Amino acid sequence: MEIFKEIHALRLYLARKRKEGLTIGLVPTMGALHEGHISLIQASKKATGLTVCSIYVNPTQFNNTADLDKYPRTIESDITLLEAADCDVLFAPETPEMYQRPGVIRFDFGDLDKVLEGKFRPGHFSGVATVVSKLFHIVEPTVAFFGRKDYQQLQVITRLVDELKFNIRIQGVPTMREAGGLAMSSRNMRLTADQRKNALELSRSLFDARERLLSGSHWSDVQKLCIDRLNSVPGLNVEYFELAHRDDLTKGDIEPVSGVILVACFVGEVRLIDNLVIDSSAL
Ligand code: AMP
Repeated sequence: MEIFKEIHALRLYLARKRKEGLTIGLVPTMGALHEGHISLIQASKKATGLTVCSIYVNPTQFNNTADLDKYPRTIESDITLLEAADCDVLFAPETPEMYQRPGVIRFDFGDLDKVLEGKFRPGHFSGVATVVSKLFHIVEPTVAFFGRKDYQQLQVITRLVDELKFNIRIQGVPTMREAGGLAMSSRNMRLTADQRKNALELSRSLFDARERLLSGSHWSDVQKLCIDRLNSVPGLNVEYFELAHRDDLTKGDIEPVSGVILVACFVGEVRLIDNLVIDSSAL
């Protein structure tokens, strides 16, 4: 695997590969890689001729400095995992390479970045859109891969590409879960064994809510039941548990089959998110 820290060297290398006729796939990550990330690498390897994984913990998408400081950084084992997955290129820049000066660019996606994550993490999606735009300009991929685990992020990126006319196809990849159902996340590394057990309740509540909705229960009843149950588990503290339209994340009268259920919940000090599309065959 080729490893680059500098934009210029990466651009020269990719220009050569493009000339050789290879299509480029991009998998943007913040590192602390797990099987979920590797499934994106595999999707890219299947669809493109050369896979670039980026690892960069982007400060502008953190609205909480403690969260940024505590974000796991495991570059050595990340490199081992990427090499085992036969990834072609790793781009792992430092901040001065990505941001020459304090950020001046802000994105506004209307209602899309004001709800759910956007409501609880103001500025988060502006930071995500900024860094992803930079990565798109640096790598110029044909396809970029994003996990449905970060469902709202995938919607924001799709809107970004549409609005700014990036000539890039965005491919969503299903969420990888651990045996008990917990969605894989770099943040899971910060959980104690007990917290990890308690965190299983997140995915359980999503699957249970889907069952109940599909058998005719009203969303308001399902929502209350799930929030109460989650909050009754020691250390768990729900931020939101919502039903939204799977295409644009609007609320209101939603036919259960066109919905996605999204949850954000603290497990101790660790904030986890997860979601479940009610009819994933439509994606
Ligand atoms: P992150 O490093 O958390 O920024 O994630 C990088 C990419 O991996 C994003 O597109 C995520 O949605 C995706 N991802 C994270 N966790 C999972 C998972 N459990 N399954 C599939 N994709 C994931």
